[in-house]
Amino acid sequence: MEFKINQKSDPEMSLQKHAEKFSAPRKDASGRVQLVGLSLEEMQAVLSEHQLPNFRSKQIWNWIYQRGITDFNAMANLPKELRAILTAHYAIDRPALITEQKSADGTIKWLLGMSDGQQVEMVFIPTPQRGTLCVSSQVGCTLTCKFCHTGTQPLVRNLGPHEILQQVMFAKDHLNEWPSSGEKEGRDLTNIVMMGMGEPLYNYDNVAKALKICMHPDGLGISKRHITLSTSGVVPQIHQCGEELGVNLAVSLHAPNDDIRSDIMPINNKYPLADLLDACRHYPGVSPIRRITFEYVMLDGVNDSDDNARQLAKLLVDIPCKLNLIPFNGWENSGFECSPMERIESFAKILENAGYDAPIRRPRGRDILAACGQLKSASQREKANKITATETL
Ligand code: SAH
Ligand code: SF4
Repeated sequence: MEFKINQKSDPEMSLQKHAEKFSAPRKDASGRVQLVGLSLEEMQAVLSEHQLPNFRSKQIWNWIYQRGITDFNAMANLPKELRAILTAHYAIDRPALITEQKSADGTIKWLLGMSDGQQVEMVFIPTPQRGTLCVSSQVGCTLTCKFCHTGTQPLVRNLGPHEILQQVMFAKDHLNEWPSSGEKEGRDLTNIVMMGMGEPLYNYDNVAKALKICMHPDGLGISKRHITLSTSGVVPQIHQCGEELGVNLAVSLHAPNDDIRSDIMPINNKYPLADLLDACRHYPGVSPIRRITFEYVMLDGVNDSDDNARQLAKLLVDIPCKLNLIPFNGWENSGFECSPMERIESFAKILENAGYDAPIRRPRGRDILAACGQLKSASQREKANKITATETL
């Protein structure tokens, strides 16, 4: 059943209240249990039902995460009878590919279908230095940041740990990154950013479970240094995230004071800047070598004046950090314009003169609506268009 929460209500309360309805299905239509997303211990517990010794679970884990195998029959070191039992009761699925779009700049956007028909978008951004996968944590978002198109879409549900991992595993399939894959072309997937649809810290448990398997040396083996979680500022989960996962933290700041921030990001009413910056200051492991990234979307006439830049420089003075200035990616009726390039450069200069790294992010995949804040909008719009078209026939 599709369940939408009222965006005007408190997202934390709503999530708690409706926790069960938000849980992602773990069984497919034929009742088979999804093994992706179970920790090794959980998998051992699940498979112990068949009196399977723990070393067998380890072998299966290895086939799933290190070899990318999706068919139990290809697990050559398992007895034939066991493969038959596994095939009957369990699944190692990937999301369905609904559409794939390639940008002129090499960015790839995939629209993926989950087992209950819900859809999420994921983006792969290759550069000469790295291949970054931008992963979604929720279908839609409960927050309503005014400049973000994802925020205009109600939260449908949280993604389960398996669905978060399945996105990464799907990308590895399509980028030919498993040991048995054929010829590999293009950039390797080296980095993961939780910057797709949704607020990852409002789905912390599932995100944490998925990232632990991503980072596990016998799992996908992606180092925590190569994983970044971006949050709009869910203060209570920030410390836990640093302590348990130790991944890089990016914070969507977007304003140099509470007035502007509360106006464009309603979450600031709940967790104002003083609390947010305090959590950043105490983020476990933060140091001049492991800095926090503050994302700052450049909105014409809203947060982009020289005064705003000076205020920002003062605000962040005691936090090891860098800034990432993001030219606003527009969408219809957003009510915002991107700051002119000279304005962004002047803003960056003030920050640089104050000693900050403040690169201007080069928008990627704009031609396929894959840039920050644009995800899901196209598919939603397509759906809406289709309905209108049928209705007017
Ligand atoms: N919910 C998380 C992660 C997803 S958004 C968060 O808010 O941090 C990823 C980044 O894109 C965030 O910094 C977000 O503020 C920014 N963003 C959203 N809409 C945008 C837009 N239209 N143009 C540019 N950046 C945008
Ligand atoms: Fe949600 Fe992040 Fe968009 Fe805000 S910027 S609406 S938190 S996805």
